[in-house]
Amino acid sequence: MNDALASSFAAWLTGSALVALLTARFAWRRRQAPGATPLTLLLLSLAVWTLTYALHWLDAPPGAAFWLDATFFGVVGAPVFVWLLTREFTQPGRPVGPGEWATLLAVPGVTWGLLLFGDPGGVLFGGEAVRDAHTRLAGGPWFRVVVLHGYALMGLSALVLGQFWWRTSGVYRRQAGVLLAGLCLPWLVNFVSVLGKRPFPDFDLTPMLFMATALIFLWGLLGFRLFDLVPVARHLIVEQMGEGVVVLDPWGRVLDLNASARRFADPALASPVGQAAARVFPLWDAATLATAAHHGPTELWLKGRCLEVRVTELRDRRGRSQGQAVVWRDVTGQREAEAALRRAHQELQVRLAQIEHLQAELREQSVRDPLTGLHNRRHLTAVLEALRGEVFSVVLLDIDHFKGVNDRYGHAAGDAVLRAVAALLAEHARPGETACRYGGEEFIVVLPGVLPLEACQRAEGWRRTIAAHEVAVNGERVAVTVSLGVAGAPGHGPDLDRVLLAADEALYAAKAGGRNQCQVAPLPAPESASSEASALQ
Ligand code: GH3
Ligand code: MG
Ligand code: MG
Repeated sequence: MNDALASSFAAWLTGSALVALLTARFAWRRRQAPGATPLTLLLLSLAVWTLTYALHWLDAPPGAAFWLDATFFGVVGAPVFVWLLTREFTQPGRPVGPGEWATLLAVPGVTWGLLLFGDPGGVLFGGEAVRDAHTRLAGGPWFRVVVLHGYALMGLSALVLGQFWWRTSGVYRRQAGVLLAGLCLPWLVNFVSVLGKRPFPDFDLTPMLFMATALIFLWGLLGFRLFDLVPVARHLIVEQMGEGVVVLDPWGRVLDLNASARRFADPALASPVGQAAARVFPLWDAATLATAAHHGPTELWLKGRCLEVRVTELRDRRGRSQGQAVVWRDVTGQREAEAALRRAHQELQVRLAQIEHLQAELREQSVRDPLTGLHNRRHLTAVLEALRGEVFSVVLLDIDHFKGVNDRYGHAAGDAVLRAVAALLAEHARPGETACRYGGEEFIVVLPGVLPLEACQRAEGWRRTIAAHEVAVNGERVAVTVSLGVAGAPGHGPDLDRVLLAADEALYAAKAGGRNQCQVAPLPAPESASSEASALQ
């Protein structure tokens, strides 16, 4: 191979190394993302590989051989980083176990050791000298291990990435595609060249294609937001979900369960997977599960927690049942809060009823006379207001010579008489009629829909009853009579005050007429009414 061609190769390889270093810089900036650190290390390995290979082409023996050996620092590291990159990208958060680290690092470690100690016994390079500047003949036994190790890791990575690409969609799929393309291209060529199909027998095409790899990754990082949008492993989501998830096979055996579900599993069982659900969850109520399967979310109490259970039938593409997914949500807090709210609401209702009762009592008290229990004048006003424009009569009643009762028997006896008269009036009032204490020893009865003459007849009855009634006071029997005056609307009205005034005048007439009698107020003369009306105008 002539020098000009060798220089061109070297220039191309140096360019590839520079692009790899540039890309590594971008990848390193995103090192927080899963896969970004292994990608950086991979790109550094590729840079070492290409750069040492470039120097190999520029240098003369024995320097050329030295650089060729040096390429192995990159060669053995690259597949390891490819695998770590694939692993982190497809299963973020899954730690690499010590065994896996050992398997991954043993080959590069031993190789680097052999390189540093000048390949003792030709284990790596078969002990054969470089025939000319650029040819390495058959490798030693360790060389085969290196090759096998490299291809195994590359093949596995391609498989896992391919699977990931197949299973995911959207941005993750595109990212996986970029990684696959960047990784597969040079190694496919390498594979072909190892099989013996080499256009330049001395020349390894693989590092030449790292330019493409580095460019694809650069394009992925900058144009495709590789590692900006980080894939989240689905199994981690399910595992870390607050909801309990259990997958059952068609025979009710546990196929899978997440961490939340394991908290409810029987702790005596080492591995719940494959066991009957009833054994894994001894407290599960089969009836509740059946209800949840048929009628939707159902609640179940387990270990003092309230769980809302959903059962979903898992079916394959043909609709055949493949088992069930049991998912539950801990709703204890929610239910407790609801119960507390209900209790508070009930207490509030009781308080409200008490307040309403008190209010009603107060209202009632405010319209009642405390001595007799009859309605008071405030209530009378309301009753008369409600009757405005209607036919009604009022009977005004005054106890005769009541002062004499007080004087003779005492004030307490007077009170007893007032109560007795009030009780008689209340007893004789019909539904809808109202008896009130009007003042000291005066009472008034309102009779809706009753005309004054009929009211007077009723009043006569009361008068007789009262006169016949004796009140026992301090061993003595006290009897009183009453005088009554009757007026009504619309005859004596329509103004309410006029009706009351007319009744008062009738009462006065009854007193003047000798007491113990009932008088109906005379109807106002039509002409006087009209003359008053004109006087008012
Ligand atoms: P008349 O036949 O003219 O109505 O004579 P009278 O004595 O009944 O009328 P008067 O207005 O002179 O007296 C009313 C008395 O009623 C005076 C007052 O002390 C008494 N009185 C008013 N309210 C009460 C009360 O709540 N209890 C008692 N015991 N007496 C009362
Ligand atoms: Mg009086
Ligand atoms: Mg009186």
